[in-house]
Amino acid sequence: MSAIKSKDKKVYNAIRNEVKRQNDNLELIASENYATEAVLEAQGSVLTNKYAEGYPQKRWYGGCEHVDTVESLAIERAKKVYKAEHANVQPHSGSSANMAVLFSQLKFGDKVLAMNLACGGHLTHGHPLNFSGKYFTIIPYSVDRKTEKLDYDNILYLAKKHRPKLLIAGASAYSRTIDAKKLRSICDKTHTMLMVDMAHIAGLVAAGYHPNPTPYAEFVTSTTHKTLCGPRSGFILCKNEFAKSIDYMVFPGLQGGPLMHIIAAKAVAFKEAQTDRFKKKQLQTIKNAKALSDELKRLGYRVVSGGTDNHMLLVDVFISRGVTGKEASAALDKARITVNKNLIPYDTRSPFVTSGIRLGSPALTTRGMKESQMRKIARLIDMVLSDISNKKKIKEVREAVSELTKRFPIYKGRKLS
Ligand SMILES: *Cc1c(COP(=O)(O)O)cnc(C)c1O
Repeated sequence: MSAIKSKDKKVYNAIRNEVKRQNDNLELIASENYATEAVLEAQGSVLTNKYAEGYPQKRWYGGCEHVDTVESLAIERAKKVYKAEHANVQPHSGSSANMAVLFSQLKFGDKVLAMNLACGGHLTHGHPLNFSGKYFTIIPYSVDRKTEKLDYDNILYLAKKHRPKLLIAGASAYSRTIDAKKLRSICDKTHTMLMVDMAHIAGLVAAGYHPNPTPYAEFVTSTTHKTLCGPRSGFILCKNEFAKSIDYMVFPGLQGGPLMHIIAAKAVAFKEAQTDRFKKKQLQTIKNAKALSDELKRLGYRVVSGGTDNHMLLVDVFISRGVTGKEASAALDKARITVNKNLIPYDTRSPFVTSGIRLGSPALTTRGMKESQMRKIARLIDMVLSDISNKKKIKEVREAVSELTKRFPIYKGRKLS
């Protein structure tokens, strides 16, 4: 960081402060993780200098021989990891991956059956302020009120009733397994195409700890920076028959030049996802989420759907401790425990207030923490939430957090600033 340190003190200082924040805080945001050092190196490389509109061997610019190597590696590795027929690794983010699928396969106004935001769906699955909600007719499905799990019978009922062109599955706040095989059978009955957005669970899927949706869905979209531990970006997998329409929509339909440095980082991440080390970490991520969930339950918290099968859980903090999600996350922030407020299914509070918080284990697992640390963190969370205005308690928790973060450095032995 010596060049930026001498050339731009303000940006340098902000980055250094962020390094410190990441080191000092317990990161429980379910969508966050720490990219590996190899991923960071690829992202910071001179590949950022290269224009490469088009696809490998079919570029609009000269001098693409090396970035072609990089993109071809990313494509082949993505296909191998997820057993996909075709991969497009150019989308800049999860949202742009979803946009490419919707814009390439649907006409404006077409019906899309998608998970209700309040039940865990994503903005790009039909929020009225998002392109998905603006340009398509969204039919929302919810989780079952009692079990708080996906209600496949109800999805089938809605699919038969509305005959949507596309069914979107996948979520930002759903702690249970998504059964793509069942969704496939629903879609087959109603001539509906299936898109599974595995943004959150891509790492678990790569490691084999969540069933792979790729054999069952026409389209699988994802981010690369959540459980997958790659750069902040996205990609699309699809059946061969849709390869052309997807590729054309990504470029030239929606994007210009691909971010070749980020594509290099994606190639690295897909390689790392095949290692035993990665697989072990994904298993530990699930074990850690379960340990966190079990300990919170033992302390009397209501965990939405009664637990978790994956890397995250939703906690109904209002019914458990009489605080809103907003108050809970603000109090935990003061103790250097980072979470986000989140709607719970059928929440009666607004998205700005909420009755719940969402907790995820990926980042802390990447730091090397295990079940005993998770149980300890559950107790620290409880200390804060049981008395959110008690400054002495919060200070005590902050000290315990500091002890933990010092024991589990993010990038061991490497200075990032
Ligand atoms: C995070 C997420 C996305 C969007 O990813 P961005 O890279 O932030 O655009 C899309 N879908 C789901 C289900 C997500 O959780």
